[in-house]
Amino acid sequence: MPASRPRPRGTIRVGSVAGSDVLVSGSWFLVAALIAVLVAPRAELVQPGLGGWAYVAGFVFAVLLYGSVLLHEASHAVVAKRYGFTVSSITLHFLGGMTAIEGEARKPRQEFWIAVVGPLTSIAVGLGALALLLVTPDGLPRLAVEALAAANLLVGVLNLVPGLPLDGGRVLKSAVWRLSGDPHRGTVVAGWGGRATAVLMLGWPLLLQYGLGRTPQLVDYLLAFVIAVFLWSGANAAMAAARVRRRLPGLAARSLARRSIAVPAPTPLAEAVRRAQEAEAGGIVTLDADGHPAGLVDEAALLAVPAERRPWVPVSTVARTLTDAATMPAGLVGEGLVAALGRAPAPTYLVVEDDGRIHGVLVTGDVERAFRALP
Ligand SMILES: [Zn+2]
Repeated sequence: MPASRPRPRGTIRVGSVAGSDVLVSGSWFLVAALIAVLVAPRAELVQPGLGGWAYVAGFVFAVLLYGSVLLHEASHAVVAKRYGFTVSSITLHFLGGMTAIEGEARKPRQEFWIAVVGPLTSIAVGLGALALLLVTPDGLPRLAVEALAAANLLVGVLNLVPGLPLDGGRVLKSAVWRLSGDPHRGTVVAGWGGRATAVLMLGWPLLLQYGLGRTPQLVDYLLAFVIAVFLWSGANAAMAAARVRRRLPGLAARSLARRSIAVPAPTPLAEAVRRAQEAEAGGIVTLDADGHPAGLVDEAALLAVPAERRPWVPVSTVARTLTDAATMPAGLVGEGLVAALGRAPAPTYLVVEDDGRIHGVLVTGDVERAFRALP
């Protein structure tokens, strides 16, 4: 049985697709209610006499709509899995969906196919719905299939717009990556594409007014604003993450680790601190009776012990038990190092050489400082 993963706050799990949890965020229910209210009058129009059931029909509609969003996301997930990536979850939220893929594409071809399959799926579903219209009876079913066709074609085409965080942005990124050999450049170009799309989006009400001769409503301004903010912040986040990845190779466990001393667990704390100061060490490792590393002294716990008590407590009382996850090879660098820190968050880690010798103690705060200081 797969271990249950921690769920992001404010989401509920509704099931799983291809082995990944499907989560629905709380904001989705607001949108579903909004769609129900907006659709109800239309439902009543095509099928008079529904009364309160018109709202139920509206809600079913919202579920159908997001069912097709789920298909779109599931296609990203399936292709990512075929390339060997772990897909932790698919989340449906008010603006659509998000597939959480762990790790980054290693080749432009992977980036391209994982991205492009989503819009292609939506367009295929849209065309399928169009074909279904030929045999769909009038009334509610027709209203539903028409809306599905329109929504999926719209989602498919809009997602191909070449700007991050849209799928089309990732397609553009893969193309620039392929041509230049530099994934970072791909992200920067696609990020600017996303920013430009965000600015264009703000012009949507103007396009309505002067291009299509329709007076924009409040909802048009609101929608344009919300989508522009979503695009702008998504583009920024993608570019920031790319900058981080580019800087990462400068981080190495071996050079960041503090020199450490090792003392038997029963050693009095005062004595351990004295030896550490003498050796100018920044970390203390406690050893078990067999001389194996057993714990790492926690700086905060150490400082909490008053100086006059330190001669009387064994150093092991302020040490955290060493787990396998808190032990890392000295050769770890860049993304590997950050991934190891992320897998088992802790304030300190034991850094060991390949032959098992203790190299030193890595303090998470040191990594963060070193990261901020990278050029
Ligand atoms: Zn997508």
